[in-house]
Formats: sequence, C-alpha cells, structure tokens
Amino acid sequence: MTDSDLIKLAIETLNSRPCASISFDYFNGYEIVAVRPSLYIKIAELISSKAITIKIMPLPNGRNGEYYDRSNFLYLSQALDPGSLKFRRTLVHESTHAAIDMLKCKNMWGPHEEIIAFVAAACYVTNTGEPLGSVSEGTYATAVEIAKKIKRSPNSSLDWNLVSAMYSGMMASATYRAATKNITNYDGIRR
Ligand SMILES: [Zn+2]
Repeated sequence: MTDSDLIKLAIETLNSRPCASISFDYFNGYEIVAVRPSLYIKIAELISSKAITIKIMPLPNGRNGEYYDRSNFLYLSQALDPGSLKFRRTLVHESTHAAIDMLKCKNMWGPHEEIIAFVAAACYVTNTGEPLGSVSEGTYATAVEIAKKIKRSPNSSLDWNLVSAMYSGMMASATYRAATKNITNYDGIRR
C-alpha cells in the first residue's frame, strides 16, 4: 500500500459514519475528556495536511499501532491487513490518542488514556455492524460491552463496573503496566 493510498484510507475511515457516532465523556480525575465525531474529522484533516505522519511499520511485541505525541507519528502494524476491521479499529484507537494530544489534555494517566482509546475504537467497530470476530477479544471484549451500552443509552455515563474491569485487566499485564505508567501533559499538534 502506497503512502497516498494509506492517507486516503485513513481519511475515509475517520470521516465514515461509524466514526460519526462515537460520542462519550470520560472523567480522568482532572477533567472531562469529551470524545466526539468532530475530533476524528480534525484528525483526518491533520493527516491530510501531514501534520500527523501516518505509516505502516513493523511493530514490536505484537503491537497493532502506536502514536508518538512528540513527533505526531501514527504507526500501524504491517501485520494488519489494510482495510480490515482490525486495521480500522487500530486506526481509530491511535487516532484517539492523537485527539487527546490535539486537545492538550493535562494530567492524563496512561490507563485512563488507554480506556478512552479502547472504548472509542470499540464504539467504531460496534457502529460498523460488521461481524466482530477476533476484533472483540482480549481487552476489547469489555470495551465492546461498554460500547454496546453507549449505543443503547447515548447520554448516560460509562458503566463504571466495566471500566473498572478494563482497568484491572490492564493492570494484570506487566507489559501494559510498564507501557502506561506515565502521566502526560499533552502539548497539542502543530498544524
Ligand atoms: Zn493505546
């Protein structure tokens, strides 16, 4: 897949209907992070203007994607089939990290940020109506449960028992604990 094809696919996905119904609030202990469809439209614009650089790369430890807030690089694993639901789910997950950077969120602790990204991506896959299969396994299993509840009652707060279950699941993994231990004050994305 060429760089321009990848950019085109990313923009199409972030502007698609399933992205246009991702909407929920998450209180990270400091501020409310409002996840809204407008964020994904803005991330698509930043990808289009190359303020965010998107690349398909080999990634370590079975990781599907990665977003670097300093360089504004968004990587997707070359192990993913471009265009597949898992590929698009990963794009939405990493774009949510980019959106948190763009919003200049403060005092963002790793596990909170991951929960936001997992739930947003789970909302995306649920909204597609496509068969979920393996995209709803592991940490995503709980995230999909949360997404289904958001779909049923859009304006209610997230199911705290399920959020806690996701948190415990992440904390049970040493790799995850190490990868998400930081508290970040995001500086935004320069256009
Ligand atoms: Zn993540």
